[in-house]
Amino acid sequence: MTTPRIAIYPGSFDPLTNGHLDIIRRGAGLFDEIIVAVGDNPSKRNYWFGLEARCELVRSATHGLSNVRVVSFQGLMVEAARTLGATAILRGVRALADFDAEFRNGLANRDLSGMETLFLLADPAHIFVSSSLVKEIASNGGDVTAYVPPEAAKAITARCAEGG
Ligand code: ADP
Repeated sequence: MTTPRIAIYPGSFDPLTNGHLDIIRRGAGLFDEIIVAVGDNPSKRNYWFGLEARCELVRSATHGLSNVRVVSFQGLMVEAARTLGATAILRGVRALADFDAEFRNGLANRDLSGMETLFLLADPAHIFVSSSLVKEIASNGGDVTAYVPPEAAKAITARCAEGG
């Protein structure tokens, strides 16, 4: 029996967007299993959603994908990846602006663990979509339903109604 090819797709997913979902779907076609690993990025503060809420939004959007699993993690991502049995890291790149940080993180992760990072190019339809842009639009009263899965849109509406 060959070893299953498992990739970890780490991120903050605050909240999941259609851009993330596209990367998950495409990754699920390339690997035996994709583990979406939801974490807290120390350089990003002021999360709108708690860790478990962010996981639940990914779960509800991916329940139809049988080879996608969602976990939360803390600490070093490559340690979580090793524990989970992942042998590759999946990331999405939208533009040159993403590339610099992704390149450095990819090299650091390979240095730390030997694990390769695979980059999927963002679909042009989602290239401008980011969690932070979605939050900015929503907090100014704009409609974000075209950019996020329905459960995430509901959660965003509820968050804004609470006074965000
Ligand atoms: P992080 O805090 O690790 O940057 P994010 O949730 O912002 O987490 O992003 C997780 C991954 O998804 C990153 O690789 C990011 O580049 C990618 N990503 C974010 N938005 C999109 C999008 N619209 N299309 C493709 N990939 C995206």
